[in-house]
Amino acid sequence: MGKAALLAAVLALAPVPALAEPLLLISIDGLRPGDVTDADTRGLAIPNLRRFLTQGAHASGVTGVLPTLTYPSHTTLMTGVAPAAHGIWSNTTFDPTGINQGGWYWYAQDVRVPTLWEAASKAGLSTGNVHWPVSVAAKGVTWNLPQIWRTGHADDARLLDALATPGLKAELEGVVGAPYAMGIDESLAADENRGRFAGAMIAAHKPQFLTVYLAALDHEEHATGPGSPQAKATLERIDAIVGDLVAAELKAHPDAVIALVSDHGFQATHTAVNLYRPFLDEGLITLGKDGKVDSWLAMPWLSGGSAAIMLARPDDAALRDRVKALLDRLAANPAHGIARVMSPRDIAAMGGNPRAAFFIDLAPGFVTDIFRGADAPMLSHSPVRGMHGYAPGPAALQSTLMLIGKGVAKGKDLGQVDMRAIAPTLAKLMGATLTGEQAPIDLR
Ligand SMILES: [Zn+2]
Repeated sequence: MGKAALLAAVLALAPVPALAEPLLLISIDGLRPGDVTDADTRGLAIPNLRRFLTQGAHASGVTGVLPTLTYPSHTTLMTGVAPAAHGIWSNTTFDPTGINQGGWYWYAQDVRVPTLWEAASKAGLSTGNVHWPVSVAAKGVTWNLPQIWRTGHADDARLLDALATPGLKAELEGVVGAPYAMGIDESLAADENRGRFAGAMIAAHKPQFLTVYLAALDHEEHATGPGSPQAKATLERIDAIVGDLVAAELKAHPDAVIALVSDHGFQATHTAVNLYRPFLDEGLITLGKDGKVDSWLAMPWLSGGSAAIMLARPDDAALRDRVKALLDRLAANPAHGIARVMSPRDIAAMGGNPRAAFFIDLAPGFVTDIFRGADAPMLSHSPVRGMHGYAPGPAALQSTLMLIGKGVAKGKDLGQVDMRAIAPTLAKLMGATLTGEQAPIDLR
């Protein structure tokens, strides 16, 4: 073969050049797709979000993961795999004796597969993060303001100083002229603060892949219910944050793609279900003199509208049968709001927690209650007006995907999207490689 022929053969084998666009990924926690597509009928003035529909592509809905909870879902958005594979199985880590002060899965060390940050970094892109879940010590993040809190004491700011990219927080505080929001703060003011910090990071460092997480809509939907006047007002203010971020990104990177996602939808709630009550009554959980858990054989691991049921001895068939009989008995009474008792096979089919012996999915309107001591009843009024965390599927739990920018079709409806397809799609846009459990979506 001559040199020219060899060259031609090599060129024929070369892959199609990657798109390699800069990417801004914004998450609005709890944003229901209908709040954007049906904004007019719902009385929502959200021009910046509406622009994604006319000038970009959007999913009619996104099917989430088990459980439809913030941390498992955001980790699927960053990895393209279900919780069974990525290892973030709930918001909080399993803590049967309650010693972890309500600690969440803050640490990226618990993520078992590569993330979009790592994929982008390997492709040679600079990366940034403002408050994305499960981002402490995340690999591949050039400029990281990770999400963490402890008690809300002022010392939490020192913890964040230590865990953020060295010098970054102080640098951006100097630019913004205000302290960075405390990690525990999910208010609209905190979202607006983090929006300003993200804008300052874009202007100062121009990260080619930036993740930004906004919490206040979810906070309001829990407090006052999905679609409440307060939730609508919060979303309208978040819309302004999105407008500012899009403008800042396009100023830094005129060819950027901006992806806007959410992690789950919401159900309105009325009744709290205290799963600890029957476990205590059955002797599966034993309390000490201090009223705290002393020992346990089986334990609910709560995830909002659902709960994993963990066994102290997973291989103990007699214990498993005993717990199964209890759960079936509870589920037989519709007042308990148990929609489904899932087996390990059912859990695996949905990509859920592989260590759970069972999974309880509650009916719409019901929410798992936290441990409130020896005397708490099984059923009470729900302390929140909205919840998620149920098994995915119902329309109310669908989440959002919208994209705008170079290479994205205008006005295209992408139809129903599997959440696991989002990360591979975003990786492809950036010219990065990430193998998820679903093929990338065609955005053209
Ligand atoms: Zn969430």
